[in-house]
Amino acid sequence: DIVRALSKEIIARDPQIQAYLSYNLETALAEAESADLEKPLGGIPIAIKDNINVLGHPCGCSSKFLENFVSPYDATVIKKLRAAGAIPFGRMNQDEFAMGSATENSAVQITRNPRDPERIPGGSSGGSAAAVADLTAIAALGSDTGGSIRQPASHCGVVGLKPSYGRVSRYGLVAFASSLDQIGPLTQSVEDAALILQAIAGADPHDSTCLTAPVPDYLASLNHGVKGMKLGLPKEYLGSGIHDGVRQQIQKSIDSLQAQGAEIVEISLPHTEHAVATYYIIAPAEASSNLSRFDGIRYGHRAANPADILDLYQKSREEGFGAEVKRRIILGTYVLSSGYYDAYYGRAQKVRTLIRRDFDEAFQQVDAILAPVAPTPARKLGAAGSDPIHEYLSDIFTLAANLAGVPAISVPAGTTAYDGADALPVGLQIIAPHLAEAKLLQIAKAAE
Ligand code: GLN
Repeated sequence: DIVRALSKEIIARDPQIQAYLSYNLETALAEAESADLEKPLGGIPIAIKDNINVLGHPCGCSSKFLENFVSPYDATVIKKLRAAGAIPFGRMNQDEFAMGSATENSAVQITRNPRDPERIPGGSSGGSAAAVADLTAIAALGSDTGGSIRQPASHCGVVGLKPSYGRVSRYGLVAFASSLDQIGPLTQSVEDAALILQAIAGADPHDSTCLTAPVPDYLASLNHGVKGMKLGLPKEYLGSGIHDGVRQQIQKSIDSLQAQGAEIVEISLPHTEHAVATYYIIAPAEASSNLSRFDGIRYGHRAANPADILDLYQKSREEGFGAEVKRRIILGTYVLSSGYYDAYYGRAQKVRTLIRRDFDEAFQQVDAILAPVAPTPARKLGAAGSDPIHEYLSDIFTLAANLAGVPAISVPAGTTAYDGADALPVGLQIIAPHLAEAKLLQIAKAAE
């Protein structure tokens, strides 16, 4: 019944929003027939970002390169979701290979923000966030390399959780930047995020970076509140560059947490200003290496009538990749090349260590950190024009958590007027120490 009801919602509203790339109703109905409703996610359809492999489903990463690719296996998160009774349902639009912040880099279609269809849903997990906001999905999985779960969640007014690096297996996630990527849930409530994390977290022999630390009961402490907790406000984050309405909404959430008994402490994350430069060296470097597998031979697109093998590689990649993906591959190849490696990649790794230490020091004083997710609410579609640097700069508040490997969540924090719109969602970001997801969810629940 849920699958059928959902498909009606999709048919009614998704032609306008365009969050779904595809879905297979018959398969989902068949899986629903045999679903064990006693299980924690029994019979619940979960929408899946187009870079996570589901056996027999397309997995195109919203790229021309993989437009006809069908997955030969289930990612570990999908196996775990199935074990909890859930049904993977639908392929969700994204920026090509998860590179972007607006879902406008998709080679397939443009997704609109359900809160204002003239605007972007954010990205790169824009399809996942838009569907959850539009109630055409109950919950979704996304991936977050530098903010791709939290920022679209913030722009669409839903909950988005990036787990600690290593908490959730990356096996079966098409790799963008392997030292930063994590899969996580986009949901309508903090409780749903806890339920899904509970299902997908935990060790995996297929991913050596996935941790063996036991998975706590995320629901047990969810309603314990924030009384007596110390929450840090980084002085660098609420400075200039933030839209006033965003600042006001964040302040309201802070006041509410304070009223519930949390102590608000000013802290410093002094290397934040270097997060954008550091990320946009490390992420393209890893991407240039990861995307070398798309050579026209092993996967996806193959150019017709090549003169020789080199021509086959070149033409297939020229035809199959979009502009942003090419930009990242060129940038990444450059910073890794001999003579530039030490000057760029090597230094970026050192700054990454400094950013991680900022968090280590902050977490000696506070239980968690409060911050905005994005400097402004969702912008209008098409407004980025040809300025990638401007897009990169808007990631300033989300990148550091990936560089440090710590968990972070975006929770709806009301709406604000912005750029001609009356009420656009704002997200509050909460960042916790490594593997402290239980505490993170507990604070998020109090802020909800
Ligand atoms: N917006 C960032 C980028 O373009 C982050 C993307 C992501 O988290 N996948 O790289």
